[in-house]
Amino acid sequence: MIDDLKILKFGSLNIEFGENPSISMLKINKALGRFGDSSITYIKYKGNNYIIDTGFANEIDISDKNLTFNERSLKNIFNQYDLTFNDIDGIFITHWHTDHFGNLRLFPNAKIYSFLPDKEIYSEIFNNYDLSRDFSLNIDRIAEFYNFSHLLPVIFLNEKDEFAGCRIFPTLGHTLLHCSLLIEYLKVKIIVAGDAIVSQSYFDHDEIWQYNSGNLGKEACIKSMHKITSIADYIIPGHGHPFQNYKKRYININNKK
Ligand SMILES: [Zn+2]
Repeated sequence: MIDDLKILKFGSLNIEFGENPSISMLKINKALGRFGDSSITYIKYKGNNYIIDTGFANEIDISDKNLTFNERSLKNIFNQYDLTFNDIDGIFITHWHTDHFGNLRLFPNAKIYSFLPDKEIYSEIFNNYDLSRDFSLNIDRIAEFYNFSHLLPVIFLNEKDEFAGCRIFPTLGHTLLHCSLLIEYLKVKIIVAGDAIVSQSYFDHDEIWQYNSGNLGKEACIKSMHKITSIADYIIPGHGHPFQNYKKRYININNKK
């Protein structure tokens, strides 16, 4: 049983469902403070401090100015909760996109955890996928580029493992190695969904985000979204506020038919 759960930061999304992804719209969104950073969830478990994803605003901008902006905003948030970067013992990365892992360099003492699926269970996907496209297979280079080599090696977990009292809940689709976490807290089931559910607007319309490289396609993404919808009472999406899973009842009735 975990001791505490908080969303330190609700991430934001550049393109909510139905919005027109034009360059001028993206510019306005940025001016209004929608930086495309992921949510950051905090867990206290057996006296240790953990986070899920690190967020990273303006993911294609790796200028010193943007790195400083990210560091300052994160520091402010940590201050609010009486936490420092030094306090974090472990970080689970839902998938290897910069908006989720780009701030890893700030944490001097954390171990990094991520999901690696069993090749036999997922043989069909593995055989049809160009593995070289996946970030985590080039982790040393990525770590050097984003300055977190001091945290290597990444500890890879699979379905049989636990992270900070949470169940590993694979949700392949957004990327090959995408993974959510299932948390039992205050008598409800909460799923930290990463980008298997990017935000409530996509969830409401039963739609998936399909703008990213390494996406396995709509079918795989919908399957993972429904896997979450059939179990979670609450969903913490990759970006945006957490919400009650009002579809749980309906999806389970339909599955029984
Ligand atoms: Zn994301």
